[in-house]
Amino acid sequence: MSARNTLANIRIVLIQTSHPGNIGSAARAMKTMGLSELYLVKPKSFPDEQAVTMSSNATDILENATVVDSVQDALAGCHLVVGTSARHERTLAWEVLEPRECSQKITKQTKTGGVAILFGRENSGLTNDELALCHYLVHIPTNPDYSSLNLASAVQILSYECRVASETGDSQTKADETEEVATADAMEGYYKHLETAMIESKFLDPETPKHLMTRLRRLYGRVKVTPSELNILRGMLVAFQKKK
Ligand code: SAH
Repeated sequence: MSARNTLANIRIVLIQTSHPGNIGSAARAMKTMGLSELYLVKPKSFPDEQAVTMSSNATDILENATVVDSVQDALAGCHLVVGTSARHERTLAWEVLEPRECSQKITKQTKTGGVAILFGRENSGLTNDELALCHYLVHIPTNPDYSSLNLASAVQILSYECRVASETGDSQTKADETEEVATADAMEGYYKHLETAMIESKFLDPETPKHLMTRLRRLYGRVKVTPSELNILRGMLVAFQKKK
């Protein structure tokens, strides 16, 4: 898959942006790196002249932007959701990656489906509910005493890293090959979680299980699931259960 196709599957989602100028700057940042999918969740003012001015001719990205009312709408069709965070401390419950590692996971995922990168409000970032939708968080390393980048600058850095990762497929493959396989304990936790979710959704009838779990164990046993992939599987179950 070419770098262009990879980048086309990456969606930049800006949540409740207050300054329309930031939307324009983000569009410019995206276009310079070859990204084009911009989703705006309840922007304060859009369309807006300031956005056009700051986009510096990346107006096609603004014109094609999708404005939605909820984060869930912005995530429709995405297989992987990555949240960006200016802070490290409140994010302990999630795996926090650096942009380089994260963009490698993102470009790998784009081969099988869409990826959304969520950016928060200028004054308060992402809410805990929004963070819970994410499979990973990414934090751009900064001066610990001053860690909050301008929104569009954060979009620029992540878009750049995605571009670099999409152009270095070989080194990505090497990184994948050296990633370890999830522990048996972690897999057991996943199977329990999966079984619960299947029963809750009535996909699995515990009275007549028909070896479903054994067959699924065999299926997962055939592939070497890495810890980060297992994270995605668990994240999906959590998202499905939440949705109910
Ligand atoms: N006061 C807010 C900062 C928001 S900055 C807070 O504490 O969360 C606006 C957005 O820019 C953030 O929600 C995030 O999407 C992005 N951002 C800013 N600095 C970042 C950093 N160091 N790493 C990753 N994303 C960052």
